[in-house]
Amino acid sequence: MSLKVGIIGTGMIGQDHIRRLTKVLSGVEVVGVTDIDQARAAAAAPEVAEVFATPTALISSEKVQAVVICSWGPAHEEQLLTCIAAGKPVFCEKPLVTSEAAALRVMEAEVAFGRRLVQVGFMRRFDADYRRLKAVIDSGRLGAPLLFHSVHRNASVPEGLYTSEMPLNDTLVHDADIARWLLSDEVTGVEVRVPRRSSRGGELRDPIFVLLHMASGVLVDVEISVNIAYGYDIRGEVSCETGVAALPNRPATLISDSNGIRQAIPEDWRERFIEAYDQEFREWLVAAAAGTATGPSTWDGYAATLVADAALRAVSGGFESINLIAKPSLYGPPTAMAAE
Ligand code: NAP
Repeated sequence: MSLKVGIIGTGMIGQDHIRRLTKVLSGVEVVGVTDIDQARAAAAAPEVAEVFATPTALISSEKVQAVVICSWGPAHEEQLLTCIAAGKPVFCEKPLVTSEAAALRVMEAEVAFGRRLVQVGFMRRFDADYRRLKAVIDSGRLGAPLLFHSVHRNASVPEGLYTSEMPLNDTLVHDADIARWLLSDEVTGVEVRVPRRSSRGGELRDPIFVLLHMASGVLVDVEISVNIAYGYDIRGEVSCETGVAALPNRPATLISDSNGIRQAIPEDWRERFIEAYDQEFREWLVAAAAGTATGPSTWDGYAATLVADAALRAVSGGFESINLIAKPSLYGPPTAMAAE
């Protein structure tokens, strides 16, 4: 039997997830959609789906068994709380929410419900290359990890819509989450450095260099470049005690012409992580059909929110520390927090 899903937000990623859920994956039916822009929702809706007037109407509909939130970040809290109150599994695109207080409210509601319902859209955890990289680190055969270099480059971002805060509160959350997951560690402090500004981004603060201090003492450096023209380029390399493990360059057709021999670079996140998004939803569908969630949790969304907040404070220089609350047992065992 198919899981009946409702989608909130039918913009760029909402439309991509509707395509995935209707054309790529099986065992799921998109039965409802909603968007502030009703015309956009109607245009994106699969033929059989109902267009709901509001997120609350969609969530409370008996037709909808599980919800996918693809609206913008500030709307997520209310929509998540409504899903939890209705006891419906919910996949929420990142960021979970946009403030620490909101993350705590969502966590409190889910803990009171007593079962995980929320999965956050940190799709890198479902990427086969990242999973192989984590398996090498977890095996211990290179010794303990010491440094992680993470590179996050976008060809461009929508002019006017992408503000100077967004590299830190919208883009960095992916690198923060993957660092926490790869290293099985928590971020305890953040520094930010702003180098020479690229002339391509106008007033945008770009690129940005971020240093994440992990509880174990591992340092993670993150380059965020959101206007680098040549493509979407995600890299990661972990230096351990006796070796280095890195993400491979994505296999792509080799092009030979008068400019030499080269490999194509993905245009954007949809191309680079297409299989990761598919896998993320495959695993979510199994969990949601069982009335729960898997993978990145409300706790992970909370931790990433604190990193984003600390990074925004750290732009003016200096070290900003992060203090997590005690991890509720719903989200697994506590992460070791003491530096060695
Ligand atoms: P988008 O193109 O602006 O789409 C968001 C849609 O949600 C818009 O149609 C917007 O309408 C609608 N919306 C906003 N608030 C709403 C509300 N309260 N109720 C119903 N609909 C609402 O943005 P996007 O690029 O798809 O991003 C959506 C979310 O996905 C963001 O949280 C973003 O960070 C995340 N995202 C994740 C990834 C990833 O790699 N995992 C990649 C891209 C985006 P209006 O335009 O009229 O406001």
